[in-house]
Amino acid sequence: MLMRIILTALPFLSLATASKDTCEWPSWQDALTTCHGPPSTYTVKASNGKGLGLFSAHDLDVGEIVMRETPPLKISPPEIVKGSGYPMPAVTKLVRKEFDTLSSAVQDEIMSLTYHITSSKEATMDKLGIIFRTNAYNSGKDIGLFPKIARINHSCRPNASYYWSDKLNKRIVYATRKIKKGEEVYVSYIPLLLTQEGRQKLLDRYGFKCSCDACAQERAAQDVSDERRTTIQKAFADFEPQLTLEPPRTKKARQQARKNAKASLQLTELVHQEGLADYFAKAYRVAAISHARVKDWKVAAIWANKGYELKYIEDPDSPYTMEMHNLTSNFIANWESELQVGQ
Ligand SMILES: [Zn+2]
Repeated sequence: MLMRIILTALPFLSLATASKDTCEWPSWQDALTTCHGPPSTYTVKASNGKGLGLFSAHDLDVGEIVMRETPPLKISPPEIVKGSGYPMPAVTKLVRKEFDTLSSAVQDEIMSLTYHITSSKEATMDKLGIIFRTNAYNSGKDIGLFPKIARINHSCRPNASYYWSDKLNKRIVYATRKIKKGEEVYVSYIPLLLTQEGRQKLLDRYGFKCSCDACAQERAAQDVSDERRTTIQKAFADFEPQLTLEPPRTKKARQQARKNAKASLQLTELVHQEGLADYFAKAYRVAAISHARVKDWKVAAIWANKGYELKYIEDPDSPYTMEMHNLTSNFIANWESELQVGQ
């Protein structure tokens, strides 16, 4: 009876484990990330001041798939040169070899992608290599080019994210916030826990000035946002060495653990206020483990399950999903024993 009550309180736990292999999904989109056959959920059209952009063709809920794409062009990267990354001539040679095997339609699609030249020397280089550098992603052990995904513009407060699935040989883009039909889909090209100035420095290599919702705010709102992002970044770094399930042994350590539990809730609040969906699961993990260390099993289980829910949506097979699943089970078991002792 007790387990049933707990599972009612944590509905996703039972839903996710039950539906994992059946490809049932309670929406118009009847496919989980592990199913094949991408639904057509987007259109590509002009985006104000940003060239082309990708727009949702449906209302999408958190976790629903925007698109999945198999890279038509993939290379095994050459050896990295210390301090300067992959050598461009070697990359370009590999890319050119693969490119020549593609149909002319795919070749045209690739050559129409945007690219950014960072020096005058590059102006004389093979444009294909520069297009590849601007648009390619690490894809398992390889580097792949995804011409359709490359149409998704950047935002410092994105509504979608993506991951590479070795199993499907696809990059999968999914909504991290609710997206309305007709709304533009955005991902982030960079780490987001930086000030506006810091983000723009990283975006310079893509050759555009960011004018997303977060960057276009009034100065005062911008300062608040900068402060929040800096605080979140510092909090994650401060928490990292303390994220252990080892119980605190000394009085001082117990006091610190209590402080941490409180601070972890402030951290989740800040990440929500800043609308950084990409970091929700990371904050939930901090809250879950911090509450486990003070043996607040109920709160720990709820945060772990929230983290599991997000990680499962993102990639059911990832080690992070597994970790959050195990933490949820562990904390529920402790919560259950605590309730039994109290009876
Ligand atoms: Zn921005």
